[in-house]
Amino acid sequence: MVRELTHFIGGQHVTGTSGAFGDVYDPSLGQVQARVPLANAEEVGAAIANAAAAQPGWAAQNPQKRARVLMKFLTLVQDEMDELAALLSSEHGKTLADARGDIQRGLEVIEFATGIPHLLKGEYTESAGTGIDVYSMRQPLGVVAAITPFNFPAMIPLWKLGPALACGNAVVLKPSERDPSVPLRLAELFAAAGLPPGVLNVVHGDKVAVDTLLRDNRIQAVGFVGSTPIAQYIYETATAHGKRAQCFGGAKNHAIVMPDADLDDVADQLIGAGYGSAGERCMAISVAVPVGAETADRLVAKLIERIGKLNVGRSDDPAADFGPMVNRAGVDRVRDYIQLGVEEGAELLVDGRGLTVEGAEDGFFIGATLFDKVTPDMRIYREEIFGPVLSIVRADDYEAALRLPSDHEFGNGVAIFTRDGDTARDFAARVQVGMVGINVPIPVPIAYHTFGGWKASGFGDLNQHGPDSIRFYTKTKTVTQRWPSGLKESNAFVIPTMD
Ligand code: NAD
Repeated sequence: MVRELTHFIGGQHVTGTSGAFGDVYDPSLGQVQARVPLANAEEVGAAIANAAAAQPGWAAQNPQKRARVLMKFLTLVQDEMDELAALLSSEHGKTLADARGDIQRGLEVIEFATGIPHLLKGEYTESAGTGIDVYSMRQPLGVVAAITPFNFPAMIPLWKLGPALACGNAVVLKPSERDPSVPLRLAELFAAAGLPPGVLNVVHGDKVAVDTLLRDNRIQAVGFVGSTPIAQYIYETATAHGKRAQCFGGAKNHAIVMPDADLDDVADQLIGAGYGSAGERCMAISVAVPVGAETADRLVAKLIERIGKLNVGRSDDPAADFGPMVNRAGVDRVRDYIQLGVEEGAELLVDGRGLTVEGAEDGFFIGATLFDKVTPDMRIYREEIFGPVLSIVRADDYEAALRLPSDHEFGNGVAIFTRDGDTARDFAARVQVGMVGINVPIPVPIAYHTFGGWKASGFGDLNQHGPDSIRFYTKTKTVTQRWPSGLKESNAFVIPTMD
C-alpha cells in the first residue's frame, strides 16, 4: 500500500474527493511511494473560500505580529531540517546536502520577510500644497495563488509564501504534483507557528486545479514558476482574468570563459553548475562558451577528466555528487536530446546514457553528458534540456561570446569567468540576461535582492523576493489630505467666561 497524501484546507488535512490521483515516485528506486490527489474545481473552490474568509483577520493583525509567526516558523523548520531534507530528497532525487540547500535558500526569504514592518512603510510628503500632505500605504491584495515547479519543492513555495503572507494576504498554494510532500509539511509547520487556519491552503493538482485558480475572481494575483510554455499560458490567462501575474519560465544559462580565467577553477565550477541536481535547476549552466580555440581545448580536457570522477548515486548516498532525475519522462527527454545532438552533428564527448547504479537499476538515472562543437542553429542549443547535459559552443572572440546569451530566446542567468575587471564590467553592462555572475556560476541573488530572468524566462514586470516581492503582493493607496481649521483655532480649551 502506498501512502495517500491529502490537501490542506482551512488548517485541516482534507482527503481528495475527485477520484483522480498522481503518482509520487522514489526516483532512486523508480518505485511509486505515494499517490497525490488531484483536486477538482470544487476542491480548489473550497480552498479559495477558506482563504477569502481568513484573509481579513490576518491582514488586521499588525505587521509585527505577522512577522512573529514567520520567526516561529523559521525555528520549527530549522528544528526539522534533517527530516525535511530527507523527505525532499526522497521525492525529488537531489542529494541530501542539496535538499538542505533547497530549504535553506527558501528560509532566507522568510528571514527577509520578517522585516515586514519596515518593508511595508509607505511614503510621506509634508505640505505638498498649502496645508496639504500626501502619503501612501501598502495594503494586501487579498487571496493570491502560488503555482510552483518540482525542482525546488521547498525554496520556491517559500519564496512566494514569505512575502505574500507577511504582507497580509492569504495564499492558495498549488505545488508540483511530482514532489508534493514537503510543501504540505511546510503548511503544517506554518499552522504550528500560529498562522490562522485558512490563511495558507495547499491543493494538489494539475491543469484542472490551475485553471480553476486562474479563472476565479476571488484570486487577485498569481505567482508561477515552471517551464516557459506554461509560464506564458498562465501569464496570459491570469492577466486576461484581471489578475496581477508574475510567471518565471525556463532557461539556457551560458558561462563565458575568457582566455585569462583560471581554467581549473572554471572546470570545477562548471561541473557543479552543469551537473548538480542532475541539471534540474533553472540556474544550471547548460552552455559553456570558451573564447578562443586554445581555451576551448584546455577547458574540454579538464571537464572530461572531472566528469570521469563524478559519482552518480541514490539521493541518500552521501558519496553521490548527484542523484536521479525526478521521473522516467525526464530521463527519456534527456536521452532523446542526446540522440538529437548526435544527429545534428555535435561532438558527443561523454555520453551519460549507459549509466546504471548498482542496487538501484530501476532508478531514473542518467550520467553527465558533454557535447563539444555545438552551434547556435542546433535544437540542443536553442531548447532547454533540463538534465545533466553541458554543451560547449566555441567563440572566436569576446564580442561573439557576448552575443550568444544576448541573442538567445531565454535570459535567466549567465556567468563570465575572467580575471579582467574591465571585461567583466563591460559584460555585466551589455549582456541581455536578467542575472549575471562574475566568476560565480549560479548567480541566484540573495533574498534581499530580487530574482528574475528576462525574455522567455520571465513574464510580468516584478521579480521574486527582495523589494519587488513586497510591491507584487501589495497594492498602493495614496492619500492626499487637507485639514480645514480645527480645534486648535477655536477657543474650546479656554475656560468659559461670562463676557
Ligand atoms: P512545469 O511547467 O511542468 O510545471 C510547473 C507547475 O505548473 C506545476 O505546478 C504543474 O502542475 C503546473 N502545470 C503543468 N502543466 C500545466 C498546464 N498545462 N496547465 C496548467 N498548469 C500546469 O515545470 P516543472 O517541470 O515542474 O519545472 C521545471 C521547469 O521550471 C523548467 O523549465 C525550469 O527551468 C523552470 N524553472 C524556472 C525557474 C525560474 O525561476 N525561472 C525556477 C525553477 C524552475
